Amino acid sequence: MAVNDASGERLHALETPVVPGCEMPGPLPGSLRIAEVRTHLLEHRLGVAFESATMRFDRRQHLLVEIVCEDGTTGWGECLGPVLPNRAMVLSYAGCLKGMNALETEKIWAILYNLLRDQGQRGIAVTALSGLDVALWDIKGRHFGVPVSTLLGGRFRDSVRAYATGSFRRDGVDRVADNAAEMAAHAAAGFHAVKIKIGFDPQEDLQVIAAVRAAIGTDTRLMIDGNHGYSPGEAVAVGRAAAEYRIDWFEEPVVPEQISAYRAVREGQPIPVAGGETWHTRFGMHEPIASRAVDIIQPDLCGCGGFTEAKRIADLASLHGVRVVPHVWGTAVQIAAALQFMAAQVPDPVRNRPLEPILEFDRTDNPFRQAVVTRPLEHRNGIVTIPDGPGLGIEIDRAALEEFKMRAD
Ligand code: CA
Repeated sequence: MAVNDASGERLHALETPVVPGCEMPGPLPGSLRIAEVRTHLLEHRLGVAFESATMRFDRRQHLLVEIVCEDGTTGWGECLGPVLPNRAMVLSYAGCLKGMNALETEKIWAILYNLLRDQGQRGIAVTALSGLDVALWDIKGRHFGVPVSTLLGGRFRDSVRAYATGSFRRDGVDRVADNAAEMAAHAAAGFHAVKIKIGFDPQEDLQVIAAVRAAIGTDTRLMIDGNHGYSPGEAVAVGRAAAEYRIDWFEEPVVPEQISAYRAVREGQPIPVAGGETWHTRFGMHEPIASRAVDIIQPDLCGCGGFTEAKRIADLASLHGVRVVPHVWGTAVQIAAALQFMAAQVPDPVRNRPLEPILEFDRTDNPFRQAVVTRPLEHRNGIVTIPDGPGLGIEIDRAALEEFKMRAD
């Protein structure tokens, strides 16, 4: 079959596969049969380019997924990662999705995963599946008139504290002074915690950590993110030297494929280790969690397999005492998905003052945090309210989709 994306381009999807269940849509309410899958490519060109240890950004690009049912019910999702491969993958899945019952999220997840299981156990096959799964949960919430967090089991909280992510290396400025000033501003804006980018040069990174700690004072929490830029030896050395600055976690110290290296970093230095934004599904998360390669696991709702899989990953983490703090790097759709998931996170352990989940709040130049929804998701004094409307609790601003539509260079 052929499917249309928002650009009007016709793309040929995969044929409906021979997978048990795919030909059996199940009892349909009729109206919730999936009619169409659309994609929306968004782009914003940055005024000043910036980079992490492993990526350079001169623009922000994101892919939104829209699923439309026969009765007009529409759900929205987003895919983490490179937009063009994600779009191709989403539209490939669309051939299988059409005609299925949008409420059957578990069944659809299993069918789509099995479709590419032999070659698609991680990566784009899963990030594309994630965007579709988030959109299906949005539809399910809208159909029943409740937020996704209620469908996941209930809202433990109506707001979360956010932490500010920033401090990328920007072109044309002194990184140490630039990072310190930026983080001081986030602390002054009310954020209880900030996370800074390291993984470049260990000596300069330690100067940045020291300068940021001095700039934010003693009360603000501080995390460091290596973006897997270090060798295991460098990561251990940086962790040992950075510990005196009271760091809450050391994120992605080494490349994600090297789980034993993660363990070596965790055992070789005192800062708790975090990771998971590039690990996919419960199968990919199992070894780092069960072997205690991390203290904190960071599934991305739009990358790990959607709500369906994130819930399983959280259950897996609870078996081993690993804290779950979702990764977020996207538009308001992705933030809303993370918020719905976090609303339903069970306190672990349950106690009078439990350790609450905290929201990663990207503070870089990114208009998509606010522009694609009719009611922006903003923080107030470092606190973000979790929407309580149906589904993801947001409404998409279609004029903004047109304004930021990716255009050919
Ligand atoms: Ca990160």
